Amino acid sequence: AQIFQAEFIKSSVRTEDCPSDGLPEFALVGRSNVGKSSLLNSIVRRKKLALTSKKPGKTQCINHFKVNDSWYLVDLPGYGYGFNALVRFNHARILYRYASAPQELRTDWNKFTKDYFLNRLTLVSVFLLIDASIPAKKIDLEYASWLGQNQVPMTLIFTKCDKRKKKKNGGKRPEENVKEFQELIRDFFETAPPWIMTSGVTNQGRDEMLLHMAQLRNY
Ligand code: GDP
Repeated sequence: AQIFQAEFIKSSVRTEDCPSDGLPEFALVGRSNVGKSSLLNSIVRRKKLALTSKKPGKTQCINHFKVNDSWYLVDLPGYGYGFNALVRFNHARILYRYASAPQELRTDWNKFTKDYFLNRLTLVSVFLLIDASIPAKKIDLEYASWLGQNQVPMTLIFTKCDKRKKKKNGGKRPEENVKEFQELIRDFFETAPPWIMTSGVTNQGRDEMLLHMAQLRNY
């Protein structure tokens, strides 16, 4: 499995605006800063191909990239920004952070993403990105459990697996954080979701991800 071609197709807000050619797709989602851009670039192996849309406005859209003219990688809006903003608001009273992500807007995007998960017929699997260099975060557990409870097919993609343990990160190795996360979400799934350990720095997991996607497409 190799990627020899990848091109940006379109940004959509609603599920019904997404491409209608029926090609299978994989959607990447995770907390802001989880390492999604790095991972995408590692998969595509082209630093210059701006696979993630960090341009203003596009980060809140459903972004379709066509790969090898036969399937899609879909970049979904990151979550957790509003959550962090709220925490900051409570602890440090940094009002402007909160003000920059209005509640209404966030709920709205959330609704579009949820609609996409539930109604996008060509969605083969959601790739939920989880930072393996830190202990499980509540918001990630909530996201995973929502997908599980709604029976949305999901693959856990653990990122930053090259990072060594640090005291301030809880002092655990990526392998330990991965195991802990899986245990914490176990009850929300009939069968444990597939999982892959990756790093955008060392390219760990790159081939495994490509193979996994190829297998799911041919299923
Ligand atoms: P995004 O916001 O999810 O797109 O995250 P980025 O790809 O921009 O990465 C966020 C931060 O994490 C940056 O400082 C990256 O250098 C770092 N990072 C991303 N992936 C990895 C990884 O695999 N290993 C390590 N050690 N750092 C990473």
